[in-house]
Amino acid sequence: MKSRIFILIGPPGAGKGTQAKNIANLKDFVLISTGDLLRENVEKKTELGITAKSYMDKGELVPTELVARMIKANIKQNIGRNGFLFDGFPRDLAQNALLSEMLKEFNLDVDKVIYIDVKDEAIHERLTNRRICPKCKKVYHMKYNPPKHGELCDDCNVSLIIRDDDKIDVIKKRLEVYHKSTQPLVDYFEKSGRITKINGERTPKEVEGEIISNI
Ligand SMILES: [Zn+2]
Repeated sequence: MKSRIFILIGPPGAGKGTQAKNIANLKDFVLISTGDLLRENVEKKTELGITAKSYMDKGELVPTELVARMIKANIKQNIGRNGFLFDGFPRDLAQNALLSEMLKEFNLDVDKVIYIDVKDEAIHERLTNRRICPKCKKVYHMKYNPPKHGELCDDCNVSLIIRDDDKIDVIKKRLEVYHKSTQPLVDYFEKSGRITKINGERTPKEVEGEIISNI
């Protein structure tokens, strides 16, 4: 059976990572999340992981080509499975070109791109209100999921912190980079009618339901 290929894209803070994990579980898809893939390879000290770590240790970005090789190894391992769900790759047209070249080698192509649409203002609201417990890593939202007492973790009673990634300037920058690199990707898949836009400004369960009904 030919594996189907799905790509999940959406701005930072859209809850993409969680959705990807749940959808992959529900549909029995192989989840290819570049973040997880990197961590796994580094932990297992694979040849690719060791090379990747040398970049990370220097505080540099892991080259796309290296990530692509990890993805390829993963596809090879899981070929014949029901489907693959990509999270975090491709992020731009260049990465997409790499991916489609790779897929071609396996006689595969992208079936559908699910685009979780969340407006910038909503992202700001979500991320600037996010707090995390430095000890147990539990995530709170000061409006929708606040801690019981002030800004203290319910379980550990320590002060919650704002992740560096969630600071206003950083969010602004991340959104800028996202729009600049992802919009051309969205346009590209729109032209071939392979994109489905999902309104991401609803509860995670509702978003999940709509994604499921579209794949
Ligand atoms: Zn805690």
